[in-house]
Amino acid sequence: MAAPGSGWPEDPATAATPVASDAAAVREFAATAGSVGELAARQSVCRACERLVAWREEVAATKRRSFAAQPYWGRPVPGWGNERPRLLILGLAPAAHGGNRTGRIFTGDRSGDVLFASLWRCGLAARPTSVAAGDGQRLISARMSAAVRCAPPENKPTPQERDTCAPWLAAELAELQPWLRVIVCLGHFAWQALWPQLTSAGFAVPRPRPAFGHGAETEVHGGGTRSLTVVGCYHPSQQNTFTGRVTDAMLDAVFTRARELAPDSTTEE
Ligand code: SF4
Repeated sequence: MAAPGSGWPEDPATAATPVASDAAAVREFAATAGSVGELAARQSVCRACERLVAWREEVAATKRRSFAAQPYWGRPVPGWGNERPRLLILGLAPAAHGGNRTGRIFTGDRSGDVLFASLWRCGLAARPTSVAAGDGQRLISARMSAAVRCAPPENKPTPQERDTCAPWLAAELAELQPWLRVIVCLGHFAWQALWPQLTSAGFAVPRPRPAFGHGAETEVHGGGTRSLTVVGCYHPSQQNTFTGRVTDAMLDAVFTRARELAPDSTTEE
């Protein structure tokens, strides 16, 4: 596991970053971070979910054979990208040998390869690939985050783990809200996880909740002139891409639409 502040590229934390060790501490540290950068730092050292901490660190210690010579991050994967984004891309959780290895969300696995290639084609990423923290990749007026920040066994967090992690996302949404115009949810879980967060943030969420689908769009309004468009996108998992359930063209269509909905996304970095 990469010790906080030990020199891992793009590590937002230091040895002094406060560590949340239970759900109450997550709520407190998320609410008091005060900036996107400090929030990412606090997210990246969290130890509140015993099962997920054990799993992420075991994976980081045992490694996959093909990555045996590489260090693993082995910590929560924090939100990453622009700190004043027009677009937020929300996923479920990092992959055991992807984000949990590289320390950057959607980086180091095939899902991320497909996703970043699309973001680059659509003008939302500076490079077509995201390989490792410190590789020079950056998002353009966009940010990525996850509903659960530690790699879960079989990619399945429990409802309790989802709820324990929720304040990290709530605080991130609160920090980003002045700039955010569009949220693209990658997969059904992220879609489901978002609505309670938007309700808590003061947005009027339709009832029943909008159905998830690729390209599904819902505009939600908060107080005053605040509004956001939530867009559904099939997750670019290997299973979905191999079976053709989601194709490059389908991803490009979603991110092209996201750019249309957030028209300043090509000028603000
Ligand atoms: S899943 Fe979230 S709340 Fe649980 S340990 Fe990881 S970062 Fe902390």
